[in-house]
Amino acid sequence: MEDHRIRKVTVLGGGTAGWMTASYLGKALGPDVTVTVLEAPSIPRIGVGEATVPNLHKTFFDFLGLDEDEWMRECNAAYKMGVRFINWRTPGVGEGKAREHRGKPDHFDHLFGLLPNHANWPLSHYWTAERLAGRTDEQFDYACYRESPILDAKLAPRHADGSRWTNYAWHFDAHLVADFLRRFATERQGAIHVEDEMTEPVIDHRGHITALRTKSGRVIEGDFFVDCSGFRGLLINKAMREPFLDMSDHLLNDSAVATAVPHDDEANGVEPFTSAIAMKNGWTWKIPMLGRFGTGYVYSSRFTTPDEATRELCDMWGLDPETQPLNHVKFRVGRNRRTWVRNVVSIGLSSCFLEPLESTGIYFITAALYQLAKHFPDKRFDQVLADSFNREINTMFDDSRDFLQAHFSLAPRDDSPFWRACKELELAPDFKHKLAAYRAGLAVNMPAVDETTYYANFEAEFRNYWTNSSYYCIFAGLDYLPEHPLPLLEQRGDLVAGAEVAFAEMKNKQKELLATLPTHYDHLRKLHGR
Ligand code: FAD
Repeated sequence: MEDHRIRKVTVLGGGTAGWMTASYLGKALGPDVTVTVLEAPSIPRIGVGEATVPNLHKTFFDFLGLDEDEWMRECNAAYKMGVRFINWRTPGVGEGKAREHRGKPDHFDHLFGLLPNHANWPLSHYWTAERLAGRTDEQFDYACYRESPILDAKLAPRHADGSRWTNYAWHFDAHLVADFLRRFATERQGAIHVEDEMTEPVIDHRGHITALRTKSGRVIEGDFFVDCSGFRGLLINKAMREPFLDMSDHLLNDSAVATAVPHDDEANGVEPFTSAIAMKNGWTWKIPMLGRFGTGYVYSSRFTTPDEATRELCDMWGLDPETQPLNHVKFRVGRNRRTWVRNVVSIGLSSCFLEPLESTGIYFITAALYQLAKHFPDKRFDQVLADSFNREINTMFDDSRDFLQAHFSLAPRDDSPFWRACKELELAPDFKHKLAAYRAGLAVNMPAVDETTYYANFEAEFRNYWTNSSYYCIFAGLDYLPEHPLPLLEQRGDLVAGAEVAFAEMKNKQKELLATLPTHYDHLRKLHGR
């Protein structure tokens, strides 16, 4: 019988996507497949100090058999318990500290995981009933989650004995991750690393790539090619001529200026969260790690210039733009019409990119690798596999795009042309339905699994990535509330009264955690041996 199995996988690009792909496929496909990574040392990677989401460990590192503490040490990683949105409701210049909004600091948290339920309805719905009836003025995140006061106190997501008490993700240096995975893939899995620049692909009569030619005259063959060449999209867009669908009609930001700022952790502690600080023409991330934080102003080039954005960022952190090392990045927002075309799949920035507001970049890589392994072809390249894979990626991307767009369009800020323009962009029809359901008091995208199994089952998480909990964190955080509570809860005042026990338990849990958890700084110092 003819052997149709793929024997050689060639990956173009050695950024985070390239080395994640090599190590994941090395494990998923087993030792009979040779994985080669072609990387041009002269073409730098993107890598600005990244924030991630919780499934990264279970779906990626754990799948590879890598211990969390081990890879965290290799990548100078810190913990992230969520994203804190600062100054998204109050007008003004970029400020690292929250301004005052209705007597409270202008910040709200997007926390991980699912909300606790009471009598089969999530706490969000009882909070709405109380809030709309004027019985509470507590913010949604502080009322319904354990984490917000812990974030304020800069405590760790793990107890002193190392056990985990919550869902969390990580901040790390993407260059260190790529280097760590390069060593893992080449030393432990037998991947071949070629340092050279691709000049052109060799394409056969079917339109399939059969090899990559390099500057120094090599010819690197493959049965299957993964394009991880970054925004260049050298194989998918240039060789396969697949169009990139620009989505700047949904999201205006297309540029960033990034830097790293030294930080006195001993005096100030280390924040266990990403900050997303609203600015005049976009927003700024703050990603704390030991000894410094990464920061970058994500802005729209339609409304400001690189110099002006640099000045705003430097003013905010008290930096001198003349001496501060700055990294300017221009990015494309959107996705390829098809992610997989013939024998080429694109993964990472060559495939799709949303601006970094909800840390979707590395998540999209992880999710695409999971789907690629599931749909992996043989040399007959059954089109059904590629079509099914492409549908999954398109849905994943478009769903996230719409959620991100809502952050900007629902934000009360309208104090600059940028914020006003965000509100003029049309939301996708499917997303408008979700908003209408939310406004009518319904829970949107409730997953069929519960809190304990949500992160244990990536298949379920992938289908319900943004859940009622995420929508509530952002919408309620932006003061965009349902028009009325869920009618059933208005009918059943006894259920709403019963939920008071759940809210009281939440307060007790917060107090207990505040009294017992180590600081994030102490935990990281111990972990990294510093
Ligand atoms: P790159 O890092 O660009 O790597 C491309 C590789 O291709 C390089 O190794 C290069 O040498 C190689 N190459 C190119 N041309 C050739 C050639 N001719 N021959 C051989 N090799 C070649 N993601 C998150 O999850 N969280 C975040 O907080 C986050 N923040 C971000 C902020 C910004 C401003 C940007 C732009 C991205 C952010 N991302 C974030 C996304 C994340 O950085 C990327 O998804 C990730 O780094 C993967 O990049 P990549 O490997 O696809 O591309």
